[in-house]
Amino acid sequence: MTSLINPASGTPISDISDSELPEVGKVVASARAAFLQWRDATPADRARVLLRVADLVERDAEELTRLEVEETGKPLPVMRDGELPFGVDNLRFFAGAARSLDGTGAGTLSAGYTSMLIRRPVGVVGSIAPWNFPLVMAIWKIGPAVAAGNAVVIKPAPQTPRSTLALVRLFEEAGAPAGLVGAVTGGAAVGSALVRDPGVDMVSVTGSTATGREVMRGAVDGLKRVHLELGGKAPAIVFADADLAEMAGGVAMGATYNTGQDCTAATRVYVEQSIFAEAVEALEAALRRVRTGDPWDTATDIGPLISAAHRERVSGFVSRAVAAGARVAVGGRALDGPGFYFPPTLVLNADQRSEIVQDEIFGPVVVVVPFSSEDDGVRLANDVRYGLASSIWTRDVGRALRVAHRLDVGVTWINDHLPIASEAPHGGVKGSGFGKDMSQEAIGEYSVTRHLMIKHAAPAERDSFRPA
Ligand code: NAD
Repeated sequence: MTSLINPASGTPISDISDSELPEVGKVVASARAAFLQWRDATPADRARVLLRVADLVERDAEELTRLEVEETGKPLPVMRDGELPFGVDNLRFFAGAARSLDGTGAGTLSAGYTSMLIRRPVGVVGSIAPWNFPLVMAIWKIGPAVAAGNAVVIKPAPQTPRSTLALVRLFEEAGAPAGLVGAVTGGAAVGSALVRDPGVDMVSVTGSTATGREVMRGAVDGLKRVHLELGGKAPAIVFADADLAEMAGGVAMGATYNTGQDCTAATRVYVEQSIFAEAVEALEAALRRVRTGDPWDTATDIGPLISAAHRERVSGFVSRAVAAGARVAVGGRALDGPGFYFPPTLVLNADQRSEIVQDEIFGPVVVVVPFSSEDDGVRLANDVRYGLASSIWTRDVGRALRVAHRLDVGVTWINDHLPIASEAPHGGVKGSGFGKDMSQEAIGEYSVTRHLMIKHAAPAERDSFRPA
């Protein structure tokens, strides 16, 4: 049993029972039975279900928003006017992508043969999701997998299961075969059982790097395909010619959106030495303008952190940095009152090798570090174990492109930080994992390309005992 807690008040919402381990196998078996029908559904049939789900999510938008705001503490307008409509757009994109024949083809590749490349689904996908964007993460996992003809068993994070369970019900209402999209609830033990279940062909996880490693280990014996969207520690590299007002606003938003509980959050700001003081001043002012408060108040920019334990963890990073000689210029201490609030925080004088610069904090905490040259900026930006997101702030388009090419990351924004689009792939390198969410590439993650070779040569044309 898991007790769901409202992070804005610290009070219980309700209890939800965890799946017993044998139940995991049953949900996977239902998914497999449904998969055997679904894998032969036409692209049009798959698209129809996804489009219906998108309409149903819009129909239930108010309820889904309520569940998500209650469990995560994210501000109402952020969910209602931002993340939920984006999730609907993702679903509609995947419906369209299901009907695109991109990546398939036919031709004579070897004399006397016609080759066809066809895409088939992988099978049953075990998907494991985090708590920071519950509904959108569930859509990113289920949408492309179903579009490609797979079945999915999803395990939402134990803190935030209800919007995912509601979404799973909408798939059945939309006409997907019963069990095609199933869910199990609970924490690491249930997740691990799902990963190891012999009926699961592929595992897809969005979570911390440590969890990704565990999931990969669990997938080894079955040699299952693995898709890992893991942690991040995104740099924002600010050059002396940047528009500092733009930069400060963009980085403040990029660092604090969803209370910094975002794998792509701007967490390390590297500023060219010659403008360091002005940039810090602009960032301080911008972070002070971010309104932390009640998620139901439409004037709020950021809500609480997810839990008391997580707030302790975020707080711990800041106090250890201060003990090691860093200085807090904005915020830095948990806010009083009920709920797990922590304000936007700016930390200076932190050492590049220290944990506050190197590790993912997953809170609204930004460190600002000077750099001396373009090479130095690139070196510092790449000098962490993660490689998910990054931004470059400059008016020099040549430099922006040059630096972007040298960053070991999945996404680089130029003069902005955070925006995403259904058509563009999302995913990292290094400790941020591998594989792509969203875009046509996500469909590829959940497909196997197969080669069919048909002999069309007359028998007389080929008689030697050797392969063509
Ligand atoms: P987490 O790693 O603690 O948990 C993620 C999910 O994995 C949960 O459902 C959890 O129950 C499950 N899990 C944990 N241990 C497991 C195990 N051994 N086997 C199977 N399942 C297991 O992460 P979280 O705290 O829920 O989310 C925050 C993390 O997610 C951050 O590191 C963040 O960067 C990352 N994240 C990444 C992306 C991305 O796209 N790269 C997006 C959102 C969040």
